[in-house]
Amino acid sequence: MSTTQTVKNVVVLGAGVVGLSTAIRLLEKGHDVSIIAESLPTDPRSIKYTSPWAGAYHVMYMGDDPRQKSIREETLKVMLELSAPGGAAEGCFRRLSSVEYFLEDIDPTNYESLLQPKRIPQESLHSKAKSGYIFDTYTIDTTPYLNYLLARFISRGGVVVRGSVQHVNQIIEGGVDAFSLGKAAQRPVDALVVCTGLGARTLGGVEDKAVHSVRGQRVLVHAPWIEKAMGLEESQEKDTYLIPRRNGNVILGGTRDVDDWYPIVRPETTEDILNRCLALCPELAPPEVRAQRAPTADDIRPLIVEVGCGLRPARDGGLRLDVEWLTDKKDGRQVPMVFDYGHGSSGYESSWGSADMAVSLLEDAMAGKANN
Ligand SMILES: Cc1cc2nc3c(=O)[nH]c(=O)nc-3n(C[C@H](O)[C@H](O)[C@H](O)COP(=O)(O)OP(=O)(O)OC[C@H]3O[C@@H](n4cnc5c(N)ncnc54)[C@H](O)[C@@H]3O)c2cc1C
Repeated sequence: MSTTQTVKNVVVLGAGVVGLSTAIRLLEKGHDVSIIAESLPTDPRSIKYTSPWAGAYHVMYMGDDPRQKSIREETLKVMLELSAPGGAAEGCFRRLSSVEYFLEDIDPTNYESLLQPKRIPQESLHSKAKSGYIFDTYTIDTTPYLNYLLARFISRGGVVVRGSVQHVNQIIEGGVDAFSLGKAAQRPVDALVVCTGLGARTLGGVEDKAVHSVRGQRVLVHAPWIEKAMGLEESQEKDTYLIPRRNGNVILGGTRDVDDWYPIVRPETTEDILNRCLALCPELAPPEVRAQRAPTADDIRPLIVEVGCGLRPARDGGLRLDVEWLTDKKDGRQVPMVFDYGHGSSGYESSWGSADMAVSLLEDAMAGKANN
């Protein structure tokens, strides 16, 4: 922390990958930080908490938004450090190659250079694809990784309080004690960071109706013989992908159903995913089956560990990273509220970069710059 700044009492609302990463960055800047969240990484899976459901891996970025590009690049650098041999969270990651096929002929100059993408020759492309790349990436085992973030936050002095917040003013006026002790905190809250994912749609004081669900269903199988990630863009709504994790499990997907809030698994989608993944990667079937005959989805079903779905927190207009000011009704104090939500399909891929931006926004606001 610079010598001109004092330690601030900051509350982060939300304990998904975005809230946890942001809270850690704020702690590392020397602030006193508390998280309030309804769902925590140690909880059983729930449709109200997206982060545990993610694939999750870093794919090549195909957009042209410079802010998003820089956020992703910053995140990639951190993830490569964490996942390196001997890295602080190595056990939550797997470093591997990925083969991705696209419906369009994609311009490779947009891609993150750290991934070292190599174009797949035309004759080796998947029949549906116009282009394809092989690149270096990592995959994350989400539950251990979220718990690693939580442990890192707590071990450095962060406070975690479970609470369901109805309106942001509840935090500004009562602090975290209002949720843990049932009485207002003595120390005023200096700033609030809102990392509520889909919760931003209904949270009082935010109620951002641009936030909506993009539902994703996926199947987890145990197939330790799969060594490469693979992806095929089938349409706007559908990607077929295989994402191997460190423990030999592989995430099979998927769907991208806009404004679909259905909270449980659709059996017909599971069948579709198994068939699509097997078509893309026949090596998914156990080697002993393949040695005898052409595999079918029946050969994959015994490998299933879990089937589930999550709701990606998408937002029309993209990720929200900005500041608004709240008034503490008790004393008229102006308190900055920073927003970091709406990460859609890429909350992991943008977690550290967006956390850094949220911290800068907050510190600029504190220094009075954003108020002028
Ligand atoms: C099938 C699938 C595959 C995916 N694959 C990838 C991938 O490969 N790469 C990638 O980067 N991303 C992927 N994603 C997207 C990624 O999971 C999300 O972008 C990310 O998890 C969003 O994190 P978040 O912290 O914003 O939200 P969440 O994880 O939903 O966390 C929100 C937090 O806010 C809290 N909260 C909300 N409202 C309130 C309230 N009113 N009071 C108290 N607490 C509140 C919740 O309890 C929770 O703690 C995938 C998602 C799905 C579903």
